[in-house]
Amino acid sequence: MESWFSKGLTKWYKQNKRDLPWRSETDPYKIWLSEIILQQTQVAQGTSYYLKFIAKYPKAGNLASANEDEVLKLWQGLGYYSRARNLHATAKIIKSNYAGVFPSTYEEIRALKGIGDYTASAISSFAYNLPFAVVDGNVYRLLSRLFGIDTPIDSGVGKKEFQALANELLDKKNPAEHNQAIMEFGSQFCKPNNPDCENCIFNSKCLAFKTNRVKELPIKSKKIKISNRFLNYVVIVDKNNNVLLNKRAESDIWKGLYEFYLIESKKEISIDKLFKTPEFNKIATSKFKLLHSSKNYKHILSHQHLYAKFYVIKAASIISNTLTTSKINNLNNFAFSRLTEKFLNDCDLKEIV
Ligand code: SF4
Repeated sequence: MESWFSKGLTKWYKQNKRDLPWRSETDPYKIWLSEIILQQTQVAQGTSYYLKFIAKYPKAGNLASANEDEVLKLWQGLGYYSRARNLHATAKIIKSNYAGVFPSTYEEIRALKGIGDYTASAISSFAYNLPFAVVDGNVYRLLSRLFGIDTPIDSGVGKKEFQALANELLDKKNPAEHNQAIMEFGSQFCKPNNPDCENCIFNSKCLAFKTNRVKELPIKSKKIKISNRFLNYVVIVDKNNNVLLNKRAESDIWKGLYEFYLIESKKEISIDKLFKTPEFNKIATSKFKLLHSSKNYKHILSHQHLYAKFYVIKAASIISNTLTTSKINNLNNFAFSRLTEKFLNDCDLKEIV
């Protein structure tokens, strides 16, 4: 089984692989960066971030020495910011525990923060040619179709079953190329929708194709529960053009990023009600003027739908004991969520105030 699969796969890969900046990379630090960036990001968007990161932080030690705000600023726009915080924390561990040299065994790599089974296998095989099979979403899809496997890929049993099968199929003499090939084939040929099965090199063996079940596989057991949140952002500016900012600290979305003063409500609320909330009274003096109400923004995250609106307010002074303020001209220095970035791109704050 191993040989027909691996032979066909690597032959296809040699002829069809995309030329990506991390493709022939053997530096584990750069492989790690690319893998973390690509976890929840498409290649087209991730490439420029990868290039920016390796230009600014060419080695783990450079990343470790950066401050967190700087790292988050460079990450701005990619989303899932825990990835950036984990990268930064792990770079510090590599610097302190491994003298800045990326560890070279699967076990040591797997023990690093933010690195799971898949990423540890990818780094150890691509960088060190160690025989650990990768199983990412593309591999789950390909294997479930090719071998007609119904076990849900998000169950504990399914994870073990697919990992065991991937291990069995792995070309142990050439794990780096085999792993890259299986992921490339899954993402570029055995695509989620309408794969070109008629021209697939595996169609004579593929159980899903032979039994007309390509659309059904892979199977997932859990449905993601989505919650709705209503975010009312008060962009409060004083007479000296200082604007109030909050650095998100809780274990919630966007930890470590900055935002305008947020009043979250259980449902959509009117502006009159917003101005009467105790949270609003905490920051605004009695004399203030509404300068601008934004359009409604809907921002979709994997488990949350966010409904947001921004209100630009001019007040004689801002009441704030704990929050940060910034001059409007300096907002570019702060890392914001993609949602706030969209608002800032849509509206010229300097013009409004
Ligand atoms: S025949 Fe279709 S479903 Fe089967 S491996 Fe090829 S592309 Fe995927």
